[in-house]
Amino acid sequence: MPNTLHVDYELKTHDETEQIVREAMEVARQEIPKGAVADYIPELGKADPNQLGICIYPIQGEKIKLGDCDKRFTIQSISKIISLCVALELFGPQKLFEKVEAEPSGEAFNSLVELDLNSNKPYNPLINSGAIAVAGMLIEEVSFHDMLRFAKELCDDDDIVLNKTVYESEMSTCSRNRAIAYLLESKNIIESDVEDALRFYTKMCSLDVTAESLANFANRLANDGVGNVSGRRYLSSENMRIVKTLMLTCGMYDGSGTYAVQVGIPTKSGVGGGLLAVSDKRAGIGVFGPSLDAKGNSIAGCRLLKEIAGKLRLSLFYDTDMISAKPIDYSLHDFQKR
Ligand code: GLU
Repeated sequence: MPNTLHVDYELKTHDETEQIVREAMEVARQEIPKGAVADYIPELGKADPNQLGICIYPIQGEKIKLGDCDKRFTIQSISKIISLCVALELFGPQKLFEKVEAEPSGEAFNSLVELDLNSNKPYNPLINSGAIAVAGMLIEEVSFHDMLRFAKELCDDDDIVLNKTVYESEMSTCSRNRAIAYLLESKNIIESDVEDALRFYTKMCSLDVTAESLANFANRLANDGVGNVSGRRYLSSENMRIVKTLMLTCGMYDGSGTYAVQVGIPTKSGVGGGLLAVSDKRAGIGVFGPSLDAKGNSIAGCRLLKEIAGKLRLSLFYDTDMISAKPIDYSLHDFQKR
């Protein structure tokens, strides 16, 4: 069955596309030894760095599942997208952006520096300070139990649970996030109970997912917030626009710009090794690869997405129709001084 993914400017069959992804995985695997698993949360340090899996769920066509795509791992920062979606639906953009900005930070994911010295609001909801501020808002309206139910629904995965071991491991070592939370309280960004906000944030990071559950979620984001089979709308179109814009500009921490140039797919990473990638109008993609680069992004996962973004024309800035296949009509060299 043909899918919505293009190869060499043509729609290819499922098997042809799968072969391309399989080859890209072998290229990406070479990156694994250059990275390392996160160990600042002790439980994450136990992950096998050699795991790699991908699930691609086109808007039209069948899923492609390769490698460790059914392995459970903690969602970590990708949960910031779920919390952002819920906060936008509950409070609306205006109220949300009174508490956090929508600017790339250029700082590490767990930095306090900018927040303390230069800004009274976190730079964006996809770094720790921003997500902890969002957690402070959410706890006044929803319980963790509600969020878990919503996460299961969005990811079409009933088996998502709180990984208590990872949760406790992070809670016992989260001095930095605790410092951020109290700094936010001192600036009146968090007006609810700080410790509750921190627990809520950390629980959301400790949800056990798979690459396939992330692909299901990403598929709905790619399809404007609507299930491609059920036709059910989960999230508003306007909020989808905001979420995907933030993923493109801020989703890969201080690596977001380079990643956007190299891959061009709105993506959110997590230090558990997950990537949630939204190829708008084409496909949702979930990746798992726990060996991380220096910025905290899956090293093989990013390479894998770079490989397939080019070959399957998944970048935001490729056209979904065939017009881009047209050869150029004139050359810039015509304008050069001779
Ligand atoms: N729970 C992690 C933390 O707060 C999430 C960070 C990440 O995935 O980038 O440090």
